[in-house]
Amino acid sequence: MTLHPLRSTRSARTILGLAAALMIGLASPVSAQQASGTALANVLVLGTGGTIAGQANARAGNAYDSGKVSAANLIAAIPGIDKLAEISAEQISSIGSQDMNDKVWFDLVKRIRAAIDNKEVDGVVITHGTDTMEETAFFLQNVLDTDVPIVLVGSMRPSTAIGADGPANLYDAMRVASAPESRGRGVLVVLNDTIHGARWVQKTNTTSVQTFRSPDAGPVGYVDTGSLRFLQPAVAIKTAKLKLPDAPPLPRVDIIYSHANMDAAEVEDAVKRGAKGIVLAGVGDGNSSKGAIDALAAAAKQGVVVVRSTRVGSGYVNRNVEVEDDKLGFAVSLDLNPQKARVLLELLIANGITDPSAVQQAFAQP
Ligand code: GLU
Repeated sequence: MTLHPLRSTRSARTILGLAAALMIGLASPVSAQQASGTALANVLVLGTGGTIAGQANARAGNAYDSGKVSAANLIAAIPGIDKLAEISAEQISSIGSQDMNDKVWFDLVKRIRAAIDNKEVDGVVITHGTDTMEETAFFLQNVLDTDVPIVLVGSMRPSTAIGADGPANLYDAMRVASAPESRGRGVLVVLNDTIHGARWVQKTNTTSVQTFRSPDAGPVGYVDTGSLRFLQPAVAIKTAKLKLPDAPPLPRVDIIYSHANMDAAEVEDAVKRGAKGIVLAGVGDGNSSKGAIDALAAAAKQGVVVVRSTRVGSGYVNRNVEVEDDKLGFAVSLDLNPQKARVLLELLIANGITDPSAVQQAFAQP
């Protein structure tokens, strides 16, 4: 759906843009673009659902249904957002991101690629639930080969809550997606005035609006009232650009969570279920009990691709420290948490990359 009511004439837009520039400060790349009299950036908003589109049931305490409000209606409710960019909005799905799946991911890629190939857009904003936002961001970064800013945004409070954070987050995401300075930085996540890179960002708190952090790298930048502040110059993000199969699903990769008193059962069950890959959410430096490690080694011998990650939440998993990866045929996830390691391993297996040393090389891409 295109938001024709938000569109205005070019000259009216320029005047409105100048007014917006004065409101948000001329230091902002968005306002600099407007002040120079150039056309506004074209930004495509793709709605997928999540709390940002959530509606509270007034009779049910803090309960709410996620994904009820369309992306178009979210935008229409934010004063001044139409001064930042020429906005069009489409709905890809209306789901809580706990239900995010390969089909929605494939649909997103198809639509984004078409918009970029047809030169329809200078930036893309994806509204998304926060629970699996980091997985979608990292998936897109691995399969999209573009400099166009792709920005994921969500909220921790539903749109009808007192102190809803969605409108400010969406406004900020629009500023980032429409700014030339955001080009070439890979897929970004914007919430709570902060810009994160897809490889490093994680949800770290169940309820706080300050939930997204990048523990091993720090944020990429900040959005404040006066400017976008990127902390580093844009460097080309060198991810392996992996091909998508013609249709979902991606190959099955299971995550196995390590814990005290663990035996081989979970690993053996995953192999029986037909997992093509297993990611270990290991203790500490990606370790597990002797029983589980032995079962993983047996799985690797049968051709299941094994990647060791950690349940800890930050830090690197290094090769051959406590576990003999070379001997057992494992790869390690380095800085990727288990959920992102799963995404990359699905894509690698789909691309026929299963040899442990080739898998390891792909995980090492920054
Ligand atoms: N579980 C829901 C989701 O991820 C709500 C969480 C959120 O969006 O913040 O879509």
